[in-house]
Amino acid sequence: MTKRILVLGGTTEAAGLARRIDEAFRPRAGAILSLAGRTRAPRPQPVATRSGGFGGAAGLADYLRRENIALVVDATHPFAAAMSASAREACARTGIPRLQWMRPPWTIPEQAKVAWAGTLAEAAAMLPSLSRAAFLSVGGRGLIAFAQIPNLRLVARAVERPENLPSGVELVIGRPPFTVAEEKALFRTRGVDTLVARESGGTGFAKIEAASDLGLDILLIRRPPPEPGDKAATYDAALSWIADRI
Ligand code: NAP
Repeated sequence: MTKRILVLGGTTEAAGLARRIDEAFRPRAGAILSLAGRTRAPRPQPVATRSGGFGGAAGLADYLRRENIALVVDATHPFAAAMSASAREACARTGIPRLQWMRPPWTIPEQAKVAWAGTLAEAAAMLPSLSRAAFLSVGGRGLIAFAQIPNLRLVARAVERPENLPSGVELVIGRPPFTVAEEKALFRTRGVDTLVARESGGTGFAKIEAASDLGLDILLIRRPPPEPGDKAATYDAALSWIADRI
């Protein structure tokens, strides 16, 4: 019987990993890619996909038992802390092995002018003393933290128009990945002096490089600590963890 591997996704890496699991292990094992269901038009994926929340850790534990899931790979975004906590708890309850995908942190260029914030709210409080016009790369749902900051022009990028776009925020629709040249052109045309971003790691580094090259201030939000347990930062390491367990 094919072993079912649940890949908690919503990221480019999760989709890539699900595809590689199918390539490496079918028919012995196959991936099911799980999406939160927030993006109205997600990219079509060449793997089995499910969509929507599970109903917390208890709901996920029920799903894992019902669907006879053998392994869970949590490849959600580093800031999707609620889903990762649920995965840890549900796997602990059911005894199903769990691997957490870890995006390697960025190596910030030495010349970059970086300030750090612990949370989006802290970043919003720091911003007026740093900036007259800031580019926000904080996810659609993170924008609300930047509502009602006086004397500050805000440009935000999101994959789709966010439901609660704060008034006055200029919106740029864009789906990653972006090149350094594209990011530089965007920062120049929008006339921003500061980049606000979450320290997500991975391919989003182009914006950091672009901002650093242009001498912009960079305000980074620290990522939440990862859940305890097994971790992999490359496709090879993740596939080898899976191979040892199926
Ligand atoms: P979150 O706060 O950790 O999750 C909130 C709730 O959404 C979870 O409790 C869960 O609902 C549901 N959920 C999240 N990821 C899911 C998944 N892969 N499959 C099924 N249900 C999921 O997460 P978030 O920050 O809202 O992010 C939502 C999704 O967008 C994640 O899949 C994440 O990988 C992706 N994403 C997030 C960011 C970001 O900046 N946070 C950026 C890029 C992509 P239940 O409790 O009902 O199970």
